[in-house]
Amino acid sequence: MTKGVGSPARQSNLMEDLEQPAAKKREASGSKISGKAIFSIAASVISVIVLSFAIWSMYSNYMNDPRRAAWTPTLKDVETGEVFEQFSVARGSNMPYRNPKTGKNNLYPVEACYWTKEGKAKMTPTYVILNSTLGKPGKTTCPDCGRTVVMYNPRPPEALMKAAWESEQPKNK
Ligand SMILES: [Zn+2]
Repeated sequence: MTKGVGSPARQSNLMEDLEQPAAKKREASGSKISGKAIFSIAASVISVIVLSFAIWSMYSNYMNDPRRAAWTPTLKDVETGEVFEQFSVARGSNMPYRNPKTGKNNLYPVEACYWTKEGKAKMTPTYVILNSTLGKPGKTTCPDCGRTVVMYNPRPPEALMKAAWESEQPKNK
């Protein structure tokens, strides 16, 4: 059983509707591909290639930049007490790091203490390896001022730091 009175007419309309756009497209593509169109297609293809090359080369420059992976902490030799500022830690190496001078794996990251015994600030900090870094129990105290040193050790107040900076400036005669 087929349904409907108007269905044959509808069908033919539908067929036309389906066919027309395709025909139009064919016409359009036939007439509009000109030199300009080819040029603009070529230009956009080239610009995509150039752009992706630029992105790729930037990315590979970035990947090859040694600073990308460089981690340059301040390290201290647990035996000799020597401090290495901005030490270039080799990729993939683990703590304790190798001291290039002694050849021993004695370097640990440090916290900086900017306090003096007198309760003032100083510009050149004392570097302290935390007990927790060494796996030792208990609080870490600064060997210079005796204060407790913690991870992300806070600096003295700005006013004290400024006073310290001023006192270290060469005096005018
Ligand atoms: Zn201290």
